[in-house]
Amino acid sequence: MQTMREQANIDPLTGLYNRRFCEDYARKLMAMARRKETPLGFIMMDLDHFKSFNDIYGHEVGDRILRHFSKTVTQAMRETNLTARFGGEEFVVLLPDTGPQDCQVVAERIRKAVAHMTVPSGTEKPLPQITVSLGIAAYPAHGTTLDEVLQASDRALNDSKRAGRNRTTLYVEETEAAG
Ligand code: GH3
Ligand code: MG
Ligand code: MG
Repeated sequence: MQTMREQANIDPLTGLYNRRFCEDYARKLMAMARRKETPLGFIMMDLDHFKSFNDIYGHEVGDRILRHFSKTVTQAMRETNLTARFGGEEFVVLLPDTGPQDCQVVAERIRKAVAHMTVPSGTEKPLPQITVSLGIAAYPAHGTTLDEVLQASDRALNDSKRAGRNRTTLYVEETEAAG
């Protein structure tokens, strides 16, 4: 039973928690953060130009990149942080008791670790460097519900993409004038 329950929460390719588990757990962490009046940080990540890695080197190499990436992220973090595969090449890190600035430090550490990782290409020609874009938001600074904070981190991630990728962005509230 225990194994089955664990398997239902785990993404088989990367061994990370899946989205459903991540959302359930994030709700619990948020309730706890509210009670204890502590922050809860979110880092949303998306691999850069991943489609072209698949297109040029094949799906198997793409899968290998996803596994290496997952391992690199896990190694770059504290055990109390939870990493989940949110979708195809999109990942989330939950950081209990961590405010925006400290989250950004962790996010930068992840970004650099990924930019330095080596993934075997399976041929003589090495793969081009893999990079990741990250967006950071935290409860309660950037939202009071899970949806709000996730949306804020997703917006910050989009800003990282638009600014050229391979970077971290901390969510800033948009002014009304900027719409
Ligand atoms: P961007 O820098 O804007 O994020 O560009 P991108 O190419 O990474 O983004 P896009 O969303 O166009 O491509 C995501 C790709 O991820 C397309 C899809 O085939 C691939 N993908 C999703 N899940 C898997 C998977 O499990 N294995 C492999 N190999 N590829 C996957
Ligand atoms: Mg994507
Ligand atoms: Mg991508």
